[in-house]
Amino acid sequence: MILRGKYLMQAAADGSMELREGWAVYCEGDTIRAMGPYEELAAAHPGEEVVGDGTQLLMPGLIDSHTHGAGLSYVQRGVTLDYLENALLKFATAFQLKPETTAALNAARHIRNGCTTLHHNESGAALDPNLRANCAEKIKGYLSTGIRLGFSPGIRNKNVLAYDDREFLKTLPPELQKEAEGRVYIDQERAVEEYMEAFESLYEEFNGPRARIFFGPNWVQGSTDQFLTRVKRRADELGGLPIHLHCLQTPVQKAFGMRAYGKSLVGHLDDLGLVDKNLVLGHAVYLNEEDIRLMAERDAYITHHASCNLIMRDGIAPVYQMLAAGMNVAMGLDEKSINDDEDVFMEMRMIYFLHRHADISLTRCPALTPARVLDMATRKGARPTGFENEIGALEVGKKADAILVDMTEMTEPCILPGTDLGEVVLRRALGRHVDTVVIGGKKVMEHRKLLTIDLEALYEEVRQQAAAGRTAAQLENEAFLEKIRPYYQAWYEGWLKEVKLEPFYLFNSRR
Ligand SMILES: [Zn+2]
Repeated sequence: MILRGKYLMQAAADGSMELREGWAVYCEGDTIRAMGPYEELAAAHPGEEVVGDGTQLLMPGLIDSHTHGAGLSYVQRGVTLDYLENALLKFATAFQLKPETTAALNAARHIRNGCTTLHHNESGAALDPNLRANCAEKIKGYLSTGIRLGFSPGIRNKNVLAYDDREFLKTLPPELQKEAEGRVYIDQERAVEEYMEAFESLYEEFNGPRARIFFGPNWVQGSTDQFLTRVKRRADELGGLPIHLHCLQTPVQKAFGMRAYGKSLVGHLDDLGLVDKNLVLGHAVYLNEEDIRLMAERDAYITHHASCNLIMRDGIAPVYQMLAAGMNVAMGLDEKSINDDEDVFMEMRMIYFLHRHADISLTRCPALTPARVLDMATRKGARPTGFENEIGALEVGKKADAILVDMTEMTEPCILPGTDLGEVVLRRALGRHVDTVVIGGKKVMEHRKLLTIDLEALYEEVRQQAAAGRTAAQLENEAFLEKIRPYYQAWYEGWLKEVKLEPFYLFNSRR
């Protein structure tokens, strides 16, 4: 197959934007074997199928390094988002599609927006006998669509109800305490055993060329030290698998680190030996200067969820300073993207605009370049999705994951000659401009038509499942969580009085 663009555009390894007019990519099987001017490749491979009409933009497939893959977004499932700690009470009660349906729908949404690889972090429940089966069905659902998949099963084996929940329990009135006890006092060690068993079985069955299975314990404050060190040991034995954790998403979590360990949660992870090139922290809004220095020095990663952090009222991760320190930053949509539809181009735009506020100086702090932003959504997505050195760029030897983007709408009625094309894409491209998607040398969408998914049938299936609404168990759970809400909020309000915040970014001034 020859993929042909009017321009080939990608983030180069040196941080610049690579732009080549009239270039094409030749793939054999799932791998890129040659690149160069279209005429040369066509002459060298007569009769080869040509994809792309020479008017489009040829780019590497985009990568979502962090999603939970609900398929239907929260608003479509009737949940309004708020501060994470408030929303956690609602998340647990949200309507769920069947695992295979949810995965197929999530993949369809990603592919239609030009995303060729996603990392699904599964927020499973500790001691859930269905964890393995649920994950297996999701993985199969994804693979049936042709998308490239990183998959990390996760659980919390402590603090399931709230951070420091054994102490929180004491703040509840006696009758609620009784009701809540079973959620707080769980068998933490058994939870780890069952998780590891499920992990091994999933790894054995699915880890391969199209799917990478790695570790995703929910978050630091939800994992015992024994759980984290066990995961670390096994990840290293298996050749250095990524370990993906949510970390320091909110000020409450920052307070937790100080209360529980007398230090930042990153400092605690370092004490346990986890801060190295295989660590990936989701959100990481409240990393301090010391955390950033350490993460950069150890070649560790964060996934940046710009829109999600805004809608969840988390704040803004100091990505500008992280990049300046040499830290690895990949893009994650976290199923809460700016237009609620996994539009990866819109999300890049959000990142592009958001990090213009790092400083007020006219000279010290130039805006991030389009190449730096595209880099987060392509090259930098390779390692955190488990495909290091295999994806993220159009290069000989890498996987043939590419998109062709229609340039008509973004250049209408005209763009002056000499205009920076990277700037045009970052400012004007939309997911719906993606015309064709190729993953591992196979077409999965052509002229906006999905080739591996019957979208109408899938939508019909989704509608049928959704008609049943939420289960009785979910409604019961919601009623219970609403009863504890006032105590839960009061619990964290106390913590927030302890946190001292000194922002990296400047927005406005009280005086
Ligand atoms: Zn997340």
